[in-house]
Amino acid sequence: MSDTPPVVTRIAPSPTGFMHIGTARTALFNWLYARGRGGKFLLRIEDTDRERSTPEATEAILRGMRWLGLDWDGEAVSQFERAGRHAEVAHELLARGAAYKCFATPEEITAFREAARAEGRSTTFQSPWRDADPSTHPDAPYVVRIKAPREGETVIEDAVQGTVRWKNADLDDMVLLRSDGTPTYMLAVVVDDVDMGITHVIRGDDHLANAARQSLIYTAMGWPLPVYAHIPLILGPDGKKLSKRHGATGVEEYQKMGYPAAGMRNYLARLGWSHGDDEFFTDAQALDWFDLDGINKAAARFDFKKLENLCG
Ligand code: GLU
Repeated sequence: MSDTPPVVTRIAPSPTGFMHIGTARTALFNWLYARGRGGKFLLRIEDTDRERSTPEATEAILRGMRWLGLDWDGEAVSQFERAGRHAEVAHELLARGAAYKCFATPEEITAFREAARAEGRSTTFQSPWRDADPSTHPDAPYVVRIKAPREGETVIEDAVQGTVRWKNADLDDMVLLRSDGTPTYMLAVVVDDVDMGITHVIRGDDHLANAARQSLIYTAMGWPLPVYAHIPLILGPDGKKLSKRHGATGVEEYQKMGYPAAGMRNYLARLGWSHGDDEFFTDAQALDWFDLDGINKAAARFDFKKLENLCG
């Protein structure tokens, strides 16, 4: 028996449109990693953006996952429904002195940035409320900000990207709770990942800088960091961001065209992950072989012809 805790991964899509190939690929990597290790794979719907999230988009994600055979454990978690828990953690951080109430108005923040730009200083907002005596607090709306360290560096050890460093001077005191008491995305992701017991966060590398900022919340709460693996995004055949212009980018479009789910899984597995020269493999082989070491550092290019060959 080893002491290593069981692997728990997740896919955390924002339900704002159809299910994109990139989301499917991230889901597949998380599914392969967990299932290949007897672990759990969870689904969280990041529906905190009330304007852009729709029930239809959530349904499309669930359908796409089912079609691809990416079964998840338990019920899909709604991030929005956990807002009370997110706020609780923000208050815990306030109580610990790791966060503070900031009463700066949007106009004051803009003025700070403009002055900093004019003087050639860093435009990272430095709130005058960071070290203010609470007895001087006005009776006015406030946001809760984390106290980011001002000196030194924040380092993320990423299973794909290697060691990545940020100067703390560049990390702002990010907002955790908005003035209406709702949590920000940064806070919600961390609290949910911890509460869901996520051990490995495998996601697009557009979230790499977020990992640095999110790690501040883990540290302030004394929570251990998950293993991070930030996967390069998928590009079109021409090396530009994959878009409609290149062809179908929605999972369901392929389903409608009659592509088999197994061929799609095989193709998606190889999109940014390689196992020697193997082009075709069974699900059992993919489950056996998939590892974070095999994820490529360079962005994968979507090859419509290869997909067609695999599925034809
Ligand atoms: N909801 C985010 C997205 O769809 C993913 C967040 C995460 O994986 O941490 O890009």
